[in-house]
Amino acid sequence: MKILIVGSGIAGLSLFHNLKHTQHEIDLIEKAPSARLQGAGICLPANAMAGFESLGFKDEILKHAHQVTEVRFEKASRKLLSKASLLEAPLNQQPFVALERDNLMQVLLKDIETDVQYNKFICDLQHNDNACLVSFNDNSQKEYDLIIAADGINSDTRNKVFDTPDLLDLKVSNWRFCIDYPNHNMQPSYLLGENDLFMFYPISKDKLYCYGQISDPTGEIFKLDAKQAMKQVFSGYEQSVQNAIYNADEVIKGQIKSVKSREVFKHNVLLIGDALHGCPPSLQQGVGMALEDVLALIELLADANNTSEQVLRLFKEQRLTRISWVIDESNKVIKLAELGKSLCGRLLRNTIVRFTGPQNVKGWRKLINNDL
Ligand SMILES: Cc1cc2nc3c(=O)[nH]c(=O)nc-3n(C[C@H](O)[C@H](O)[C@H](O)COP(=O)(O)OP(=O)(O)OC[C@H]3O[C@@H](n4cnc5c(N)ncnc54)[C@H](O)[C@@H]3O)c2cc1C
Repeated sequence: MKILIVGSGIAGLSLFHNLKHTQHEIDLIEKAPSARLQGAGICLPANAMAGFESLGFKDEILKHAHQVTEVRFEKASRKLLSKASLLEAPLNQQPFVALERDNLMQVLLKDIETDVQYNKFICDLQHNDNACLVSFNDNSQKEYDLIIAADGINSDTRNKVFDTPDLLDLKVSNWRFCIDYPNHNMQPSYLLGENDLFMFYPISKDKLYCYGQISDPTGEIFKLDAKQAMKQVFSGYEQSVQNAIYNADEVIKGQIKSVKSREVFKHNVLLIGDALHGCPPSLQQGVGMALEDVLALIELLADANNTSEQVLRLFKEQRLTRISWVIDESNKVIKLAELGKSLCGRLLRNTIVRFTGPQNVKGWRKLINNDL
């Protein structure tokens, strides 16, 4: 088949690496003018590492990554609410690690950076029975049997092709940054405040990845200067949070959205990665789910008996239940965090966390056991 991959993020690059060496003819286009490095950190739960192992990247990633062994949920004062070990079954099937996002991108770009056609995007798609004629911004045209949209949560391809492309705005603003923190002995810690949360996640022996979020219904907090906003939002938190904000250098800010539609393909255009299931990072499943999409697709495309229609139908059958669960559950965890707005809600939320354990760990157990 002639296949077009749109977007060279984690999903697009992982897929291209594998398909490059198959009988299919593959083009990979990227709208940005060069490799898109984003800063901050990324956390990879065991199922993401299982995906990277199947794709042959695990050893290289481990060279840049830091393994964590426990997850802690705490109050803003850093008083422990609950904790869970990541060394117990079924979580111990793979290491839980974190690393600088740019290091992960460098691993995925190795050997294929020159294959990526940068500065290129789709202007128009004309569908016919078995193929799709694509017109690009550089005035070129090419016919493809399959178009794989890996162009992220704001997918332009999804907007062009699907009936319900809109995103659910969860009205949560967030900030991400890394700080130097020599000789720490930390495990991932999620501090629950009122309608806000702050996370420390070690990415090396000397560096922490920090993430903060707040419910921001009017979007007013998002408009503020990032450091100023964080100082204000986390002023009641324990001193280690204030210090981290003080030491923050490059801060990336964002607003959390979630893909609403459960459409997976139309004509011969298939969504994967965040274009299909972008959602809040509550379960840190973005990479894990993208890699599962890629592995499912690779297997379907490897079967020479599968037509493009069969690939699309079987992909949807295999993936829809699991990705729908991840989106719904990630949205739910955000809502649980927001319960803390009122004193009663806070007591209820903290009691749930005390008795049922860290919510992300609960989700990971279910995903790893495939118990959905
Ligand atoms: C705040 C935050 C924290 C997160 N933390 C984690 C975490 O710790 N662990 C985890 O697993 N996941 C996390 N995620 C999710 C994770 O980042 C994504 O799921 C992951 O990057 C997979 O993305 P992707 O490749 O599908 O899309 P993206 O990474 O968004 O890549 C899409 C690519 O397509 C390109 N593109 C866009 N439009 C076009 C176009 N029209 N034509 C061509 N190219 C185009 C973009 O430039 C980009 O390079 C987080 C997300 C957020 C927002």
